[in-house]
Amino acid sequence: MINDIIKALPTEPPKEAFEHYKECIRDQNIIIYQSTMAYFPLEDRRRKAVKCKCTACGDEFIEERYDFQADCFYSRPPAPFGFIDPRTNEPVYEGLDFICPYCGSPVRARHISGTHKDFIVSEYFFNTVHEVNGALCILCWCLRKVADKDGNVKHTVTMCDGNIFKGKTSYTVSAYLKNYNPYTGYTAIYQGYWRKQSYWEDKIGKVHSCDIFPFDQEVLSRSRYENCKLDKFISKIEECHPALYMEIYIKHPNIENLVMCGMSRLVEEKLSSLRGTKSNLSKNMGIDFKESKPYKMLRLNSKTDLLLARRYRFNNEWLLFYADFKDSVSIEEILELKRSKCTYDLRILDIVTSRFDVRLTTVVNYLDKQKKRYGSKYNVIMYKDYISALLNLIDKKEITKEHLFPKNLKTQHDSATQRWAQIQYEQGAEEKKARSLQIEKRAAKLAQFCYQSENLLITPCPSDKALFIEGNTLSHCVYRYSESYANGNTAIFFIRKKDMPEAPYFTLEYSEKDNEILQNRGYDNEAPPKEVVVFAKEWLKYVTKLIKEKQNGKSTCSKSKQHANA
Ligand SMILES: [Zn+2]
Repeated sequence: MINDIIKALPTEPPKEAFEHYKECIRDQNIIIYQSTMAYFPLEDRRRKAVKCKCTACGDEFIEERYDFQADCFYSRPPAPFGFIDPRTNEPVYEGLDFICPYCGSPVRARHISGTHKDFIVSEYFFNTVHEVNGALCILCWCLRKVADKDGNVKHTVTMCDGNIFKGKTSYTVSAYLKNYNPYTGYTAIYQGYWRKQSYWEDKIGKVHSCDIFPFDQEVLSRSRYENCKLDKFISKIEECHPALYMEIYIKHPNIENLVMCGMSRLVEEKLSSLRGTKSNLSKNMGIDFKESKPYKMLRLNSKTDLLLARRYRFNNEWLLFYADFKDSVSIEEILELKRSKCTYDLRILDIVTSRFDVRLTTVVNYLDKQKKRYGSKYNVIMYKDYISALLNLIDKKEITKEHLFPKNLKTQHDSATQRWAQIQYEQGAEEKKARSLQIEKRAAKLAQFCYQSENLLITPCPSDKALFIEGNTLSHCVYRYSESYANGNTAIFFIRKKDMPEAPYFTLEYSEKDNEILQNRGYDNEAPPKEVVVFAKEWLKYVTKLIKEKQNGKSTCSKSKQHANA
């Protein structure tokens, strides 16, 4: 049956759609240029020049040639030359956007090149909705404006792909093959006929609503989807996933209830976040499809909640959050949160409140206090890392309020994350032994670069374990460099405050080959403050001096040896 549908699919879009979208790319044009010999009457001689043709005005004109320097980036093919724009006296070359000096249209310069193919001036994808043999088909077309070498313009349209819906089943069709070329990336080879794809895929994807050509309600009723509200869904928002919407609709027709109560934006947001295979798509939407009342579908307490959520433009994240916590939080509390403290990471609030039976406002108030205490250094990530380390270290039943809300978050965070790092590290200690030995040797060699200022000091990372703890405490990924540090491809240094030499502060990556600081990162990859930047510069100067001294020392050494030999 699907084969009959595919055979009956249109091979071109409706004429009106073609004409409509042709207008969308009307203003995109090129100027095709090529080398020529031209007669210059003032000089009374023929010499090299450039012939140009504008696809907007159709004018042909001769311009001064512009040759690139041999080492210039643009001297690569397709053209080692361009021409001088008589309007601005600036050079113009392949790929550059400028204004046609004769008609004033925005154009792009294209060199004629050696190929015999037409130029693609512009490409535009649009979609049409059809009823074919009782199935609903959403098809995507590729409209191209092409120019031949003489600047003659024409429009072509090619079938691309689409999604087909019939009853509770859906199919994917395609009319091109993807071809991979290491130089140009993926290109499409259009086959000119529709073919069923073996696996399901959303072929239409996210599109601007205006790129779906308007269709009659008739199309929906003839394909027996008269109640699907696809048209309403598309018309209410700027961008949407029409095929994904239908995919959900054929399994759960009550999705249209959400569209009908003005939640199209929310539905689209949920569709946008969907990942996964066809069979479990709807499971990830956070919608209770067994219900039919919109507020129950969204797992809210009442119709009033739904009205409030809509009035205050709850996005999907807030709505899901409220749905999860509606027993311990009122929607007014959520509103208050959303109004003032929406910077809080909802996931951490989620972990703490759901696992420890704590009121949401308690957590928020605690985080506020810590924020006041630590100012800009405060980071919700710090709290999150602390809680996750805590969960690893202590049995959930033994975690108390004091554990959850320590007076001095920073200190508790540091000790908990370090303890957890230690435990994790010991688990794989055996394999790391060899690497650790190498790192110790490296550190001994790099120890000559130790340096200190009044407040700060810098030392090479002494061991594999220290590197692990550093990355874990500072919540960054320095431990990934362990291998390359061990085998000498890079060097890792620790910057410490002199009064707290044990506490990780900033981690610096240094290239011995180029005598250069590659990166310098603090907690959660934060950039260093001025004091640390200045210190690192000072240190680099010191290192450079040391290296020079050593080189000079060596060369005098070898010279004196030569003398001795002579
Ligand atoms: Zn022109």
